[in-house]
Amino acid sequence: MSDEFDVIIVGAGLVGASFAQAMKDSGLKLALVEGVAPTAPAPEWTSRVYAISPGSIEFLSESGAWQQFDAARIAPVLGMHIYGDDGKSNLDFDAHQSGLSELAVIAEVRHMQYGLWQALQRQENLELFCPARCASMSLQEEIAVLRLEDGRELRAPLMVGADGRDSWVRSQAGMDAEPAPYRQMGVIANFETELPHGDAAWEWFRGDGVLAFLPLPGDREGQSKGPSGDTTPERHRISIVWTAFEERAAELMALQPDAFCQQVQEASLSALGELKLLSKPAAFPLRLLHLEHLVKPRVALIGDAAHNVHPLAGQGVNLGFQDARELAKVLKDRGPQPDCGDYFLLRRYERARKADILAMQMVTDGLQKLFNNRNPALKLARNLGLSITGSLPWLKNGLVQHAVGRHLN
Ligand SMILES: Cc1cc2nc3c(=O)[nH]c(=O)nc-3n(C[C@H](O)[C@H](O)[C@H](O)COP(=O)(O)OP(=O)(O)OC[C@H]3O[C@@H](n4cnc5c(N)ncnc54)[C@H](O)[C@@H]3O)c2cc1C
Repeated sequence: MSDEFDVIIVGAGLVGASFAQAMKDSGLKLALVEGVAPTAPAPEWTSRVYAISPGSIEFLSESGAWQQFDAARIAPVLGMHIYGDDGKSNLDFDAHQSGLSELAVIAEVRHMQYGLWQALQRQENLELFCPARCASMSLQEEIAVLRLEDGRELRAPLMVGADGRDSWVRSQAGMDAEPAPYRQMGVIANFETELPHGDAAWEWFRGDGVLAFLPLPGDREGQSKGPSGDTTPERHRISIVWTAFEERAAELMALQPDAFCQQVQEASLSALGELKLLSKPAAFPLRLLHLEHLVKPRVALIGDAAHNVHPLAGQGVNLGFQDARELAKVLKDRGPQPDCGDYFLLRRYERARKADILAMQMVTDGLQKLFNNRNPALKLARNLGLSITGSLPWLKNGLVQHAVGRHLN
């Protein structure tokens, strides 16, 4: 027994789910296959939070996805303070000076995923297969066939792999490339801070990695929001990402909460005063994955299935959202071409995305190499680079426009 679709999407993470939602007015019949359904987020913030760029917010707003998220769980980033490892050089960005309402926002992954998931359940041109496990995939001349472990067979002219960094679709399609491990881990945790974060993100480029503070919305202890005149002090909260070499990350992960707070406080030069740990730290391995091709006949890859980048610029999922936006655009604007898995059509998507992905991989890879190096000449050069960039408004503005995704529109 087989079901016929126009597009089969494997993976309903943020990228796959946002692509499916962007296709709601495409007139195409979609199948979305996901292994694990997202659960309703708890009131406490988890430490899996992402910096979402204005370009991504624009994309998510076009399909109505952004409007579904609870604004109380989204923090604006109005400024950014970046410090070098000589204790002196720094670079500051300010949204208003760059003509923007914000540089980015910080949003919780589970919260966004659940919001998207609820909307997908109401989407008329979409059939959800979840929980579902993929058994095998075959690519024929005019059709891609996906067999699920429960025996169901899905057929469509296009299969979209949105199934994350260890993509099953990528490997079944023979599109795998050797990833280059950074031998670093991204250590994440949430903290309460003594001093307010000032709606700013902070980043310290250090000899032992890059430490980033991301602002979270504040609240009042014991209640969600006090009535006006409530004197309960506001709690200031942040989420951190400390990308460190594996040995250093293991040391950090083995620390008791007080010692961990102490290390983060010292590494941040006590910029936000004393810290109190709010969540159990977690660590994620980091790697670079560059694919020569994002498409082949009947297959397109988006999100982490198509590329992995170092998270020091907080751009992984933002790149994925732009993949989803571009692929949806190519499919919706295909004119008289009836075959949405046509190779030449898919090549349009690949050509539109390749330069942006490569540029982000080069910048993040170059920055992490520049700062994870003890050569004194490089140390001088990188700190000088920060100071010079800080003194050139046109360069700073160009960097901001690139980082917020405005160059893509
Ligand atoms: C420490 C750290 C911090 C980061 N911070 C940021 C940040 O601030 N900003 C940013 O833009 N990016 C950030 N990133 C990058 C970001 O995590 C990824 O780019 C993003 O999660 C990729 O989303 P995705 O939807 O492509 O993949 P995923 O989130 O991995 O989703 C894949 C989905 O596919 C499903 N799936 C997998 N295999 C199958 C299968 N065989 N069958 C069915 N379903 C399947 C999974 O269950 C999952 O739901 C960070 C990464 C790390 C490690």
